[in-house]
Amino acid sequence: MIVILTGGTGGAKFVYGVRQVLAPEELTVIVNTGDDLEWWGLYVSPDIDSVSYVLSGLFNDERGWGVKGDTFECQQAMKRLSRPAWFNVGDRDLAMHLTRTQLLNEGKTLTEVTAELTAKLGITSRILPMTNARIETRVDTPAGELSFQEYFVQRWYQDPVKSVRFAGMEHASPAPGVIDAIMSASAVLLAPSNPITSVAPILAVPGIRTALRTTPASVVAVSPIVANAAVSGPAGILMAAHGFPISIAGVAKVYEDFIDALVVDNQDAEAAKKLQRAGLKVHATNTIMKTAKAKAALAQAALNVASQLNSSHAAPAS
Ligand code: GDP
Repeated sequence: MIVILTGGTGGAKFVYGVRQVLAPEELTVIVNTGDDLEWWGLYVSPDIDSVSYVLSGLFNDERGWGVKGDTFECQQAMKRLSRPAWFNVGDRDLAMHLTRTQLLNEGKTLTEVTAELTAKLGITSRILPMTNARIETRVDTPAGELSFQEYFVQRWYQDPVKSVRFAGMEHASPAPGVIDAIMSASAVLLAPSNPITSVAPILAVPGIRTALRTTPASVVAVSPIVANAAVSGPAGILMAAHGFPISIAGVAKVYEDFIDALVVDNQDAEAAKKLQRAGLKVHATNTIMKTAKAKAALAQAALNVASQLNSSHAAPAS
């Protein structure tokens, strides 16, 4: 069983790649829920939806979110009613949020609801929310504290960032199946998602980071930072706000206590040598996922690194 920790668009591309090289039943995806929001009275879980759409073939690759071919009639109608419309919700996407909200209102947990919805979409991989507790990623800016979606979607991540916190985390516990999946996996892969707002919330759920440190599985991260910049989005800005360099060394630092290897882009080959000398296993390859082929190749490279680590762990000392 292969476990992926993911959130957001970088993660969605990577999950698409892994799905091409593994049987779906071999895959468990643990997903960030810190970006979840209530919108028009509905419970929206953008990162769970992205992974669900990727694994069911519905994902809109061009946009990097939502359902391909979706229409926005409801959003237009909401605008006419002077309702907020800065968060984009397509009509088919809306069906997911309506159903999720109804099932949650019936008293089901997010884990149960996700299992039910993904089964309906024909997905045979397991998609697990990181926790069933309500966590809210909050971004502290000079304009005040914003929800992640206010910062990212409504305000185009233009505000300077002081810090990021995960409200509700102190009462959270990992969702059922999360710790088991990490402990019994043959490899755990960290997608090239935003380290601060997509992966850090997962790591902050009490118990998950310890599981990553202690699992016998090889833990391999793919860097979202290429040539000292994020491939997209505010990952660099947010890493800097938390005192990490915007580089593969910065990514290695965020994950330093539990990764066995880091996959970086060929453009960072020189920096990789330095990291390697400092004792981390680093593999350089093309990590820019523009095509289906590039996504599959990166996924295969990460899996190969993990299986090499497994065989070197298993090899008798000579
Ligand atoms: P957000 O967009 O910052 O909220 O972060 P997400 O977790 O949604 O994913 C975007 C992250 O994925 C960014 O940090 C990007 O640098 C990274 N990313 C996006 N596309 C690629 C890619 O093709 N290759 C790599 N290595 N990283 C990518």
